[in-house]
Amino acid sequence: MDQIITRFPPSPTGYLHVGGARTALFNWLYARNTGGKFILRIEDTDAVRSTRESVEAIFDALTWLEIDWDEGPFFQTRRYDLYREYIQKLVDSGHAYYCTCTPEEIDAMREKAMAVGAKPRYDGRCRERGLPCSENAVVRIKAPLAGTTVIEDVVKGPIVFQNSELDDFIIQRSDGSPTYNLAVAVDDITMGVNLVLRGDDHVNNTPKQMMIYKALGVPLPVYGHVPMVLGSDKTRLSKRHGAMSVSEFREMGILPDAMINYLVRLGWSYGDQEFFTRKELIEKFTLKNIGRSAGVFDQTKLLALNAEHIKAADPAELARLLMPFLARIGCEPTDMGQVEKAVKTLVTRSKTLVEMAEGARFYFTDIDAYDDKAVEKCFKEPAADILRRIIAALEPLAAFDEKNLEDAFKAVMEEMNLGFGKIANPVRVALSGKNVSPGMFEMMDVLGRDLCLDRLNKALSFVDALA
Ligand code: GLU
Repeated sequence: MDQIITRFPPSPTGYLHVGGARTALFNWLYARNTGGKFILRIEDTDAVRSTRESVEAIFDALTWLEIDWDEGPFFQTRRYDLYREYIQKLVDSGHAYYCTCTPEEIDAMREKAMAVGAKPRYDGRCRERGLPCSENAVVRIKAPLAGTTVIEDVVKGPIVFQNSELDDFIIQRSDGSPTYNLAVAVDDITMGVNLVLRGDDHVNNTPKQMMIYKALGVPLPVYGHVPMVLGSDKTRLSKRHGAMSVSEFREMGILPDAMINYLVRLGWSYGDQEFFTRKELIEKFTLKNIGRSAGVFDQTKLLALNAEHIKAADPAELARLLMPFLARIGCEPTDMGQVEKAVKTLVTRSKTLVEMAEGARFYFTDIDAYDDKAVEKCFKEPAADILRRIIAALEPLAAFDEKNLEDAFKAVMEEMNLGFGKIANPVRVALSGKNVSPGMFEMMDVLGRDLCLDRLNKALSFVDALA
């Protein structure tokens, strides 16, 4: 079999949204699974709605998701000569023709069709007139007059269109610009795309594009139309369902691997497995497991999956991803080893990188104030005594390794005849500002000896002042 060549051709009229990202991902995964090629093409022919900012946002989002492309980005606006060449070929071979019908004539045709309950369509009046190219002429393709056009859809099964429903649609406007379907078909043909996998909002474009392939005498690609992503109310996902663009999820502290895991599961399954690493997805992705029913976007599930990915991630990689979130809250640690250690203490406590950064704040900034409830609960008698004894037990230690720390705590527990919890309470508040924190010894290891002693002494002064 030939090498699989897939593509993702977003229109840069906004941010990369969940549905588009899923389409990109499916195409990318299939290319990677089969050793094929994945092409990125920017469909920017709509000069009014396309923006450079959207193009950048799409690149950023794909890069964040680690969806890389083998060819491109191609821009349709730079390919007009090629489209013109193909339009000319179609005219020369008698598969397309110039049409000079005026807008009034077209409107009249529409009204006439609608009056008898038919679909508004062009009635083919210039089809056999053999008109030459002229200033206001458009170019129309000759649609088949009878029979059917069938999409052998790998996702939905065969989809049948009556050719009588398809009219001679325009492939070149009077200003010489190509229309959407012409540009897409020419691009897919010339880029060698042999799998067109896209949202099912494009189903109605497919017979038109197939017509162009047939007129050019080139083999059709394989088509697959993926159902749309829905919001919780089962309507098509849109802004009113909350976060929609991939960059918003990035800001929320979702990991790229969790995002692609969640996106893929919105329209593809592998038994009842929910958690997949990127490598596993590449290995396991097949077209036949793409679902026929629409996926429903559920942010709670995405967060739960993100928590799983945080637990499974490589701490060094997590530390790297966490840095911008730390910077956002004013923490700029320089020792990556320390950040990695901090991350390890927080992986089971964080659903997002935003939460993780918040949880790590006390490691990297001074504690300005102790939590009120924690003070009330943990800085009461005999907190001062505990802190004094813990400081005395810790001070002689050269290294704050787990064994040393455990011995120091044990000694104080015995001296005071108190359990670990009682001893740990004021120490925890002294070190973290709160009465909930990562495990005591791992937290002390991240803070290091000097900072621990400094914070314990400060807390002792605070507690003494309370008395
Ligand atoms: N540019 C189209 C879109 O953004 C994609 C067309 C296609 O996949 O053929 O929806």
